[in-house]
Amino acid sequence: MKRLCRFAVFFIMLFTASCSSYERVKGVHLQLQDPAIRQRYGGEMGALADELKQAGVTLVIAPVLEDATAYYPSDLLPQRWEYGTQLLAFRHELRRRNIRFAACVPVFKDEYTQRSQPVLQAVNDYGAGIRGWICPSRPEYRNYKLQIINEIMLILQPDAIYLEHCSYPAENAQNGKIPPNNHIRSSCFCAACLRDFSEYADVKFAANASVAEQASHILNHYRKEWTLWRSGLITAYVETIRRQVHAMNPACRILLERKPWTEKYLNTGLQQIYGLDIKTLQSYVDAFVLSTLPEPDTGNDSLLTAALRESADLGQRAIPAFQVRNYLRNGEERFRSDLQSRRRNFIIYDWGQLLNNRRFLNIFITES
Ligand SMILES: [Zn+2]
Repeated sequence: MKRLCRFAVFFIMLFTASCSSYERVKGVHLQLQDPAIRQRYGGEMGALADELKQAGVTLVIAPVLEDATAYYPSDLLPQRWEYGTQLLAFRHELRRRNIRFAACVPVFKDEYTQRSQPVLQAVNDYGAGIRGWICPSRPEYRNYKLQIINEIMLILQPDAIYLEHCSYPAENAQNGKIPPNNHIRSSCFCAACLRDFSEYADVKFAANASVAEQASHILNHYRKEWTLWRSGLITAYVETIRRQVHAMNPACRILLERKPWTEKYLNTGLQQIYGLDIKTLQSYVDAFVLSTLPEPDTGNDSLLTAALRESADLGQRAIPAFQVRNYLRNGEERFRSDLQSRRRNFIIYDWGQLLNNRRFLNIFITES
């Protein structure tokens, strides 16, 4: 019996040791050009990093580009932002304070490329272009984004790459909400996708069939093949990104944004609608960030909780991201209890909103 107890104590200690090495995240999303941040810190990146450190922040996620504009010295993107090398300076200040820096890269959302090369635009199942979105199936665009990620790795040397909008676009689907008629416009049915998929699955379309008719033919008769083809492509791309990132820095983490949906939600909606196959992706992703909910009502909360529980059961790392603005109407206590329930494993969107709402900032600072 004594021996059994000793064994039990040994395993409990082993378990505790492995848990303590599990890295906790108290993260904030932050945009340097946010007026609240400009007003408070101006160009004083050290002062900003000091306040983040004092608030107990361990991870900062910051966008590093938008459309054609790079927030860092870039040879690939045609436009520069007005703040020169401030992001680069901020990145160094974070490193000095041992705060991780995640470079947020909008992968398939790119209004500049969509306007300059309309042929690359993603197309919904009605045959209409989806504003601002590029078709994920286009290898030339995927290579272009890979080169940009390469450049970000070289110049900014981030601790993590946060892949935002790295999926097929869908319309009418809010973060956690189902549209009233439960109809989500899926994608992509551009000419290249229709051609490639018809080769892949040996699909024949009626002569002169419209895009909407071809889409409906695929969704009614080839849904399984369609789902596998799209999610296979996204997973392969994330794998390529990870390989390239790790060739430059093996310690750099890959974070991937996803909806707070369980695998079964909306009939495996993550995979069917967005092309995100969590099971195959998890080998290439260090953590999934469950994108923020539109409103913290009970329904959404249970969906988030279910998604987090499912991730934990599957051994996946998942971090919820909470939006301050969803709590502004009498939601202080709710904000506090949400942070408490995710003890040191959350991302707040964003630092500018915390600055504008000091009571929430105080809650954020005390919850660690
Ligand atoms: Zn397409």
